[in-house]
Amino acid sequence: MSKREFQTEVSQLLHLIVHSLYSHPEIFLRELISNSSDALDKLRHLTLTEDKYKALVGNGIDSPRIDLELNEEAKTLTISDTGIGMNEEDLISHLGTIARSGTKNFLSQLSGDARKDSNLIGQFGVGFYSVFMVADKVEVFSRKAGEDETYKWTSDGKTGFDIEEVSGEAARKSAGTTVLIHFNDEGAQYANSWRLQEIVKKYSNHIAFPIFLTYDKSEWNAEKKESIKTRTTEQVNAASAMWQRPKSELKDEDYKEFYKSITGDWEDPLFWFHTRAEGTLEYTTLFFIPAKAPMDLYQADYKTGVKLYVRRVFIMDDSKELLPPYLRFVRGIIDSEDLPLNVSREILQQNKVLTSIKTASVKKILSELKNIAENDKDKYAQFIAEYNRPLKEGLYGDFANRETLLDLVRFKSTKVEGLTSFAEAKARMEPEQKALYYITGGTESILRNSPLLEIYKKKNIEVLLLDDDIDEIVFSTIEKYGDIELKAVNKGTASEDLKDEAAPEKAEELKPLLERLKATLGDTVKEVRASSRLADSPSVIVSDEDEPSARMRQMMQAMGQKNLPELKPTLEINPDHEIIKKLLADPSNGKVEDAAWLLFDQALLLEGVPLKDPASFVKRLNRVLNQSI
Ligand code: ADP
Repeated sequence: MSKREFQTEVSQLLHLIVHSLYSHPEIFLRELISNSSDALDKLRHLTLTEDKYKALVGNGIDSPRIDLELNEEAKTLTISDTGIGMNEEDLISHLGTIARSGTKNFLSQLSGDARKDSNLIGQFGVGFYSVFMVADKVEVFSRKAGEDETYKWTSDGKTGFDIEEVSGEAARKSAGTTVLIHFNDEGAQYANSWRLQEIVKKYSNHIAFPIFLTYDKSEWNAEKKESIKTRTTEQVNAASAMWQRPKSELKDEDYKEFYKSITGDWEDPLFWFHTRAEGTLEYTTLFFIPAKAPMDLYQADYKTGVKLYVRRVFIMDDSKELLPPYLRFVRGIIDSEDLPLNVSREILQQNKVLTSIKTASVKKILSELKNIAENDKDKYAQFIAEYNRPLKEGLYGDFANRETLLDLVRFKSTKVEGLTSFAEAKARMEPEQKALYYITGGTESILRNSPLLEIYKKKNIEVLLLDDDIDEIVFSTIEKYGDIELKAVNKGTASEDLKDEAAPEKAEELKPLLERLKATLGDTVKEVRASSRLADSPSVIVSDEDEPSARMRQMMQAMGQKNLPELKPTLEINPDHEIIKKLLADPSNGKVEDAAWLLFDQALLLEGVPLKDPASFVKRLNRVLNQSI
């Protein structure tokens, strides 16, 4: 026998499970049954596709089933499956470490407040370890398909576990896993057949394999006039692939339970889309949108949530080919009638059938979302609160669905509270308004206070505030919403639309001043010119149409991009501002020089860009201040 310690994360998780999950201990059964179901799925796939396993059917591999055996007196329960099983190595790596990404991140988000934490854990999914909510000792007997040895894993869920090979009675006769639970005080309530049936029906009714319960059934014996107990085995679940049942037969509850059984989430999904396609291609899809974005949504090694089946046989659940990455928060099932059972990962990538299913599925999901956006604003707001950003990633990557995605994303705005859409902004356009305007490149408060918005405010034109860090990259590639142009107000030409007619005359008058400002700032700026977009501020920084904003550059540098070409912003000044007027009236030497730098530096500060030389800025500011007091 060898003793081993749990990986630190497992110990932390176990501690949490025992101390925070008191509100839902019954989910341990769902988690274990779901593990058994996965193990059966994996083995069934192998026996259908690989000769080595085909040959073992009936001789080392039994027909797929899950068995619960209850011993009320001893307060023990076993959950056995005839699935793929685990060997010694598997037991160590699967039941002693956590392979899932995001574990550390998850653990660091915990607050210590049991109620809040228990919700978080619900989203994270605790899997096997949840059994320690109800057990003070757990023994796992497992034999891997194709191998002869049975190994036993034992733990009290505190510090570590033991592993040993077992033989004789304790050894399994065929491949699979048996989990023997010794209930603790909390778990004693589940040493009850009626309770177990209820829980299986609630969470695992649609598991595709039969689940049997063996227990001591009390029956009235009329002759003896007393109740006697008989050991009985009964099937508890419906064991149908629920997604194959007609929609008309399925209730909301069925969908919610099924969702929970495949995801381990405790919360109901926001909504689901169930589709059966018949025709050239036959397939069924059932997609769910979780109420809360998955923990690993923004991690490169996120876990996918869509399982691929072929004619009810599970094929794989970790393919990133099934949906585009921006829909990685979608959970559910794709079941195809047309794919071969032995379809491999490599084949999947260029398989025409799958490509068609994928294309149709994306269209379906997006059109259903659009439907909800139009007909159930509250629900849609919940959706957007979690998934606005992945949809924007879609705008960047999914050209074919750009039109629909443009209708799905939401923004802050200078005109309305909360979030709004392009369609709504279009409906609010002023009669003379030529384009839809937006501003990017900073936090909401920097954007709201940007001098670039002044002229729009004055003319009562709406500007959308795109404060997400990917907005600038995404929207710089998108020129139109329908037939309306989209323009960034911090880019060169947006203000042309708003120019007033008197501009050319002023330009002549301003020329000498502009030249002197440019001479002072030298190579720091590309150009100094008169602005038509300012009302209250004396100056502003703008970038060319095809250049990243100053703020964007900062981000690119922070992300490790080197060798960015030197940024040469354009400084625009407001000819109607008091300061500029005074400079024009009295352009005596020292003042223009100080003014040039102060106008430039303040414009940078308002964009949220730190100054290269704050000391000079302060010195200059104090000099000017000193003169004015
Ligand atoms: P998850 O199911 O989310 O991967 P678990 O902690 O529930 O996490 O299980 C960890 C791993 O242990 C599983 O991924 C699987 O490889 C293995 N495992 C658990 N239960 C079984 C079982 N009944 N048969 C075979 N393997 C299992």
